[in-house]
Amino acid sequence: MIPPIARRFVAGESAASAMDHARELNDDGIGAILNLLGEHYDERGPADDDAQTYCSLIDEIGETDLDACISVKPSQLGLDVGEGVFRENLERIVEAAAANDAFVWMDMEDHTTTDATLDAFEAQVESYPKMGLCLQANLKRTPGDIERLAGLPGKIRLVKGAYEEPSDIAYSDKARVNEAYRENLELAFQVFDAGVAIGSHDPEMIDHAMDLHEEYGTPYEVQMLMGVREDAQRELAADGVTVYQYAPYGDKWLSYFYRRVMERKENALFALRAVLGR
Ligand code: FAD
Repeated sequence: MIPPIARRFVAGESAASAMDHARELNDDGIGAILNLLGEHYDERGPADDDAQTYCSLIDEIGETDLDACISVKPSQLGLDVGEGVFRENLERIVEAAAANDAFVWMDMEDHTTTDATLDAFEAQVESYPKMGLCLQANLKRTPGDIERLAGLPGKIRLVKGAYEEPSDIAYSDKARVNEAYRENLELAFQVFDAGVAIGSHDPEMIDHAMDLHEEYGTPYEVQMLMGVREDAQRELAADGVTVYQYAPYGDKWLSYFYRRVMERKENALFALRAVLGR
């Protein structure tokens, strides 16, 4: 059972609780991106199991009128076991999505996985365009990756980047990452007709996206994590902005909860207050 303190960041352990959460979000005009927690499997079994769980979830979503989709991690689908395993599992998920007209997002993990993730996305999105890929502004290669994907169907989600990377391939200075985010966002608005997702809680980046939308007319959506700036999510949605909340669920919630609490002072204070009961 997930303790109430973790429920701020995690939608529950079961698919049913994730669907309930999606319904609540939809009531506030916010779409749901559901992510089954799990990553870095070193054998095929759990990767196949998670792929199957995603297929069942997509079928369940397809039976409703929920505005909900999924986001998958390559290492959860078996990339550490082998690229072939990852590709097979992704293909199964895309087939289930195609049968239900559902959208599939792909998360981006650390730089050792970027090529395999881009290759797999390219291979699928040509035949199933309701897909999106996450790109990371901290990686110096990202402008090139945006150009590579330009002209393909599908969306991209631009994030600042969550992984510690070597300094020769990535920016670590916060101001430089922000500058790279702005530059990449403008490039993305120029080339992705299907739309750009701003995967950020940063009001400055969201304002920048709104300016770029005015300039280029490219559709955009704001994506934020469950438990982070939820008031802003609701306000943006009420103002007519397309907002999706990335909501993780599943029994592997502990390490995710720990990561969220440790990444920001505000989150750590929230956890401390909850433990102290005030
Ligand atoms: P930060 O630079 O952390 O913060 C900038 C500003 O945002 C702050 O000054 C504050 O004003 C506001 N803010 C941020 N957090 C809070 C908070 N807790 N409370 C109040 N205000 C806050 N990373 C990957 O590497 N791969 C992925 O696939 C990936 N997918 C993601 C999907 C989504 C939907 C989101 C939102 C993020 C994802 N990330 C991913 C994580 C991302 O790379 C960043 O690590 C994370 O979003 C923090 O950066 P930020 O842009 O939100 O802003």
